[in-house]
Amino acid sequence: MTEERKPFGEAFYDQIRLTTETGAKFKARLLKLGKRVGWTHCPKCGGRLEASLVGPRNHLHMACQTANCLWMME
Ligand SMILES: [Zn+2]
Repeated sequence: MTEERKPFGEAFYDQIRLTTETGAKFKARLLKLGKRVGWTHCPKCGGRLEASLVGPRNHLHMACQTANCLWMME
């Protein structure tokens, strides 16, 4: 069992920051490579983080394959 040292709010905003930063980097990399789908190692759990760019505006859909880990929809 891990001890949660941070108050809930702070941990919550840390996760949002990690998610948005990871998403922005991931999207930039996909666009640079000219790809619509890809995956990388999740910075939070080390699992498989999958992403795709959707529609003409390249909205990022990203989700870690570990339950309750990182995900975002732009
Ligand atoms: Zn993860």
